[in-house]
Amino acid sequence: MWKSIRILVLLAVLLAVALHAWLDRIATQSWREPLWVGLFPLNGDNGATTEEYLASLQPQDFGAIEDFFAREGKRYRLKLAQPVHVELYPRGSKLPPALDPAAGPLGVAWWSLKLRWFAAQATEVPGRAPPRIRLFLLYHDPETLERAPDSHGLQKGLVGVVHLFADPEMAGGNNIVIAHELLHTVGASDKYDLGSGAPIFPKGYAARDQDPLYPQDQAEIMAGSRALSAYQWDMPRSLAGVLVGPETAQEIRWMH
Ligand SMILES: [Zn+2]
Repeated sequence: MWKSIRILVLLAVLLAVALHAWLDRIATQSWREPLWVGLFPLNGDNGATTEEYLASLQPQDFGAIEDFFAREGKRYRLKLAQPVHVELYPRGSKLPPALDPAAGPLGVAWWSLKLRWFAAQATEVPGRAPPRIRLFLLYHDPETLERAPDSHGLQKGLVGVVHLFADPEMAGGNNIVIAHELLHTVGASDKYDLGSGAPIFPKGYAARDQDPLYPQDQAEIMAGSRALSAYQWDMPRSLAGVLVGPETAQEIRWMH
């Protein structure tokens, strides 16, 4: 008797979790109203340079992200003029839980639960409406860090941890990384080789039919860089050099 009640309760919990994920997915992929994305800046290295940079951040620094989604949505004949609304929140003080690079599937699952718990607490700002997507922006001083740690955007939980550089020169590149992780939260998958970082042909190329194929002028957003040759690629300076390819458009339901 007790055993069947326990199983029933467990099944109800699992069903509720699945239902929640399904509803989130429908809400974020319907594109009937602007998707509200909250940006939560954080000092990723506790440094003074980063602190100064955080204090200088303005909402318009992220305007290029809204423009990118508007321009690309229009290209896919989306009825919505502004698919994404980006909202800059005051800087937070607590850092999200870190993912151990060596974590196995169970470790990743546990980390994603902790991250969702963290996001629920950290995004409550008095007087401000909670956003649908929560992105934590961890800024690092480029002088102390050659390469930013890996960023993560999760569709389950609609949350992301994004590592960026605290340097106005790199603001355009930062917006590419933010748009990339944001697209992960609404169902887009990576289109670069996880080992080498090379864009995958054809889905990671902006102009797959171009002849000659190299160099590519623009990058596909989920590839993150454009191929200059079969062995060379680089990241465009801003979202002006990036587009949404048909595979990504399909994944986020801009195209059916
Ligand atoms: Zn990615």
